[in-house]
Amino acid sequence: TPTVVFDNVTFGYEPGRTILNGLSFEVPAGSTTAIVGPSGAGKSTIGRLLFRFYDPQGGRVLVGGEDIVRVTQDSLRAQIGIVPQDSVLFNESLAYNIAYGAEGADMDVVEQAARDAALMPLISRLPDGFDTLVGERGLKLSGGEKQRVAIARTLVKNPPILLLDEATSALDTRTEQEILGTLKRLEEGRTTIAIAHRLSTVADSDNILVLDHGRLAESGTHSALLAKG
Ligand code: ADP
Ligand code: ADP
Repeated sequence: TPTVVFDNVTFGYEPGRTILNGLSFEVPAGSTTAIVGPSGAGKSTIGRLLFRFYDPQGGRVLVGGEDIVRVTQDSLRAQIGIVPQDSVLFNESLAYNIAYGAEGADMDVVEQAARDAALMPLISRLPDGFDTLVGERGLKLSGGEKQRVAIARTLVKNPPILLLDEATSALDTRTEQEILGTLKRLEEGRTTIAIAHRLSTVADSDNILVLDHGRLAESGTHSALLAKG
């Protein structure tokens, strides 16, 4: 399980407008670090740099001790599983969606991922199980069910690194609590970065970074942050 390190990272999308200003933090192997902060603080940008949608203009991002600009894109992306806020599903079967469009995926792997994402109650209710079309013929998944499909899709790769980018922010409180419980189990043994809007949803993270204008305003456990006020 690799460590993730941001070492003095500076980044902007446009010249003259810096989004991350010399940001440094470390996510120890197998632990969960949450990133919270106001909208526009740069939280999602951190995920995009980790996934190498963009490269930093200063500093380095290290995965397992290695600068990610020196790792092939394929091997980097094979290590990182992303669960975004609004997952877009293919207009195809659940199995196809979980396999992320991989035809002829190993059904044992797909089914195990569905179990891990707690999707089996849904699948057992569907007339044709995995064969059921998503989005067609009037079958509508709820927001929570869609997120569970997205989680299963991420788990198919068994990634050692998880990037949860507001994974539960769009859900109602009860569904959010259920899915947070599922995610908690899945974080075990993985190095996790959980981007969140509200501190309460990431209270049990090993470390919480409070980001403001691309800088670390505070960091610590939930109780330490509350003690600071
Ligand atoms: P957060 O996730 O904390 O809400 P983001 O990382 O998405 O913040 O965005 C940080 C800042 O970068 C925002 O001001 C946003 O407008 C800007 N930004 C995000 N994506 C782009 C882009 N592709 N081009 C230009 N500016 C962007
Ligand atoms: P935004 O639309 O929030 O500005 P970007 O356009 O920069 O974000 O990034 C594309 C989006 O696609 C990201 O939010 C990411 O979650 C999603 N995405 C890209 N590749 C993958 C992938 N392999 N697995 C899951 N989600 C992905």
